[in-house]
Amino acid sequence: MIHSLPTLPFAMNALAPAISAETLEYHYGKHHRTYVDNLNKAVQGTEFENLSLDDIVRRSSGKIFNNGAQAWNHAFYWNCLSPQGGREPEGRLLKAIDESFGSFKDFRDRFSEAAVNLFGSGWVWLSMDRQGKIHVRPASNAGNPLTDGEQPLLTCDVWEHAYYIDYRNARAKYVESFWRLVNWEFAQSRFERGWSEVAA
Ligand code: MN
Repeated sequence: MIHSLPTLPFAMNALAPAISAETLEYHYGKHHRTYVDNLNKAVQGTEFENLSLDDIVRRSSGKIFNNGAQAWNHAFYWNCLSPQGGREPEGRLLKAIDESFGSFKDFRDRFSEAAVNLFGSGWVWLSMDRQGKIHVRPASNAGNPLTDGEQPLLTCDVWEHAYYIDYRNARAKYVESFWRLVNWEFAQSRFERGWSEVAA
């Protein structure tokens, strides 16, 4: 099975100035593409050759995991962003955020703190466990909550390539802009579909 680079769900300049077209040309056009290309090369002739990307992320390790998870994570990250994003979550997801973190603001502060303080490269996730409880999970490198049996709902890429063109070393400013782009409809729909259906 050949893994392909998914279409970006918005135009290259749609997220500017928070995330510039130049950042997306590199981040999507070069970094994401390279993970997909390297995954396709790495799985050839292995037991992972005919597995879905989800199964590759759950079962592989080493080079196949690194490229497979980075391919998965980036496709997911683009869906977490929208030129019409920002605002606040609603409905059942907002209720779960209030229950787990106290308030949306407390959740946002906790997620931002995890994103700013993650050492080196990685991702910060909002994920859902099998009981439907939600968590903030920092993950180094290509880390993804699927490997710990949790379902991703939202992510922020904190690799330097995600922000260095627009913000240089100021990761906190990038994280602040991230909140103005979050596609809450996407996270809400994943949460509302529940575990069994999302995982199928
Ligand atoms: Mn990235």
